[in-house]
Amino acid sequence: MKRIYMDYAAATPVDEVAARMTATVAKKYYANPNALHREGQEARVILEQARTKVAGILSAHADEIVFTSGATEANNLALRGIVHTARARGISRPHIIVSAIEHPSVLETARTLAGEEARVEMLPVDGCGIVNPRALRKLITPETVLVSVMYANNEVGAIQPIREIAKEVRHARNTQKSTYPYFHTDAAQAANYLDLNVLRLGVDLMTISSTKTYGPRGIGALFVKRGVNLVPLLSGGAHERGRRPGTELVALATGFAEALSGAEKMKIKEYARVQKLRNTLTEKIMKKVSGATLNGDLAFTLPNILNVSFAGCDSEALVLYLDAAGFAVSGKSACKSSSSEPSHVLVAMGKEQEGTVGSVRFSLGRGTRREDIDHLSQKLPDIVEMVRSATKKSVS
Ligand code: PMP
Repeated sequence: MKRIYMDYAAATPVDEVAARMTATVAKKYYANPNALHREGQEARVILEQARTKVAGILSAHADEIVFTSGATEANNLALRGIVHTARARGISRPHIIVSAIEHPSVLETARTLAGEEARVEMLPVDGCGIVNPRALRKLITPETVLVSVMYANNEVGAIQPIREIAKEVRHARNTQKSTYPYFHTDAAQAANYLDLNVLRLGVDLMTISSTKTYGPRGIGALFVKRGVNLVPLLSGGAHERGRRPGTELVALATGFAEALSGAEKMKIKEYARVQKLRNTLTEKIMKKVSGATLNGDLAFTLPNILNVSFAGCDSEALVLYLDAAGFAVSGKSACKSSSSEPSHVLVAMGKEQEGTVGSVRFSLGRGTRREDIDHLSQKLPDIVEMVRSATKKSVS
């Protein structure tokens, strides 16, 4: 049976050129880039070339790029690094603001810091999953050291008004005549489709992940604007300008830079291509499947993500039935009574419902073709009906 992969938001396939480059560099430049000998210095040159390439795509300086193990670590570094620096500077309980729909790597980090280390406040979203930049003004205080709002959400694809949020943060800085607050955005999901120019965006810190952008697994990066200081997460050597100890990931950095650069080159074309496919899929689902509701507003959503709730369906069952039929997708429930926990994103959007409602995220990418969309929309009505009757039996 043909498999149809529609889970690009969870992980993208690895670009072939990027994979080849990673393997070649891993073999050839094995020396430690911190070593003084020629082999070490050659590895250093390759690492710095990768850093410069990533920086160029972001319109950043090379010294503003910190390579990490992925987006989770970059998000942890941004939040903990800023809070711990502020505490070291004498702000005993810094205030941070995060949106209610952040990835767990931001939300759980904020929750861990909440209490003695920091005061954490949540920025709500509207029914489409979008924050109101104006609402920030009322929340920012002289103790606010960081605002973290993701560029685009991973579950429903909602794109946040990053430039407007950055403006609000700058306004607060100017009126308070302070270096704080800083603005961090998690751009892990946005990287393939949206503008990554940090100057145009006006961000101080930005997370990106190789896993989501057709690069090798195990690497990501945090853009840290010059002048922004971060206490590292780990103790060790002075690698990555004292921000991330440990021998640098030379081969992975090369593959990541190549993948990001490839994604950048095809950004405009791929945006239009997957958006068309996604819109066709949406129309077909809404026409053919009863009890289906769209989560989010497609006008403010990443072009590759479609999140739909199906009444009377258990979310996990839907994902498993779809898998058995050859489709790889992700799902979360939109209610408390189902077998799984409700999605915090759907709850924040006010979509929590009574009874059993399962939501599915279809996320498209480079490998998605029109025939995949046709095949899915032809099979989906029967699969949903099957899951509905199975769910009904298990509930009654
Ligand atoms: N942020 C967002 C928005 C994500 O979608 C993900 C991955 N699901 C992460 C962070 C974590 O990324 P990684 O697996 O690279 O740590």
